[in-house]
Amino acid sequence: MRALSRIQRFNQRAQIAGVLRSWQQQYPGDKDGVAKKLAALNLKRCSPRTVEKIIGNKSWTCLFCSACTEYHDDGIVFDDGDRTILLCGECLTIASKLIEA
Ligand SMILES: [Zn+2]
Repeated sequence: MRALSRIQRFNQRAQIAGVLRSWQQQYPGDKDGVAKKLAALNLKRCSPRTVEKIIGNKSWTCLFCSACTEYHDDGIVFDDGDRTILLCGECLTIASKLIEA
């Protein structure tokens, strides 16, 4: 089924594990010392909140729901290669109820 490869569960652990590499790509030079602080963490085990305190927001650790426009630790990622749509569980439940109605 083609849709299954386009619908994935958001993997917060993988997101956090890659945050240092992503940060260094976006902000080479580490002017504010964020990369150094991230490098000191065990990114395979540290809490999302620890990373968020260092960076100052949830945009590098959480799913930003396309429907309710809030950050969540879990959700679903739809990606067709051109577009990515992120939905939290609550909004998925609302969508499911709409189609069942
Ligand atoms: Zn939502």
